[in-house]
Amino acid sequence: MLLLHNGTDGHAALEAFAVGGAGLPDNVIPLEAWHVASTGIDLLLGAFALGANRVAVLAAGSEAPEYREALREQFALAETIVQAFGYTGRHFLVVSTPGELVGLDPAQGVSVPASFAFSSDKRTAVEFAVDHLAGHAPVRPAEIALPAGSPFGQVVVDVKKCTLCLACAGACPESALMDGGESPALRFLERNCVQCGLCENTCPEEAIALQARLVVGPAARQVRVLNETQPFHCLSCGKPFGTKQMVDTMMGRLAGHSMFAGGDALRRLQLCADCRVVDMMSNKNEVSVLKL
Ligand code: SF4
Ligand code: SF4
Repeated sequence: MLLLHNGTDGHAALEAFAVGGAGLPDNVIPLEAWHVASTGIDLLLGAFALGANRVAVLAAGSEAPEYREALREQFALAETIVQAFGYTGRHFLVVSTPGELVGLDPAQGVSVPASFAFSSDKRTAVEFAVDHLAGHAPVRPAEIALPAGSPFGQVVVDVKKCTLCLACAGACPESALMDGGESPALRFLERNCVQCGLCENTCPEEAIALQARLVVGPAARQVRVLNETQPFHCLSCGKPFGTKQMVDTMMGRLAGHSMFAGGDALRRLQLCADCRVVDMMSNKNEVSVLKL
């Protein structure tokens, strides 16, 4: 078992425990950390994959309650993942005193410890750990359902609502959502998604839903197309602009508007920006500000 503690009250609690009794169980390796609240799922799963059957944090009292709560969430998430791989027992603990580590029930560790070098990139460290567990665990799920709010998962796009406006790709801070380059498409890289919800809140069509999960294996590292369509071509010059879905949605919404009665204005929506100007300037019936 790996025991993380700070150098102040955590260290003092361990010293007092050693002086006043038998001390820590033989299988506990204490490790002083700069700040135990920075312990995240990357370290928990990484240490487990490398052979620690348990990771505990000694939060001896100097940590703010918010830090303790954040720690418990990270530990609960790591436990959900390890349990889904079929390892029995409790593997990740936040304790207030060293005495809580005495007499614990057994916790099943990995049969083959990993040998990868620990990455300083958190996502990469988690991937290495999960890949190792996927190859050696008692149970090997294709994906693991996680509680809402977990920092792993996918976005599900309702293609009937999505107009491919790409506002969500612009809002995504992790480059998990991307445009289609030369073709009108919305693409997604799940390993980058932190489930922040910015895309969901940005989408004008309410077409996005978040789904927290951990995909096991290479699928999360492969770019997927969530929606794609044909480009819309200007009715006048044939140049591609926008998407068919976007123009259809615009036409559908504005068809009943008085400003678009008559057909000319609606047809203009199907022209590119240049042809729209030409159309307006050459239309004899167009209302001009010069004549007002
Ligand atoms: S999901 Fe929403 S924001 Fe993203 S491209 Fe589609 S309509 Fe636009
Ligand atoms: S939830 Fe956040 S990280 Fe994930 S695709 Fe949406 S904006 Fe990007």
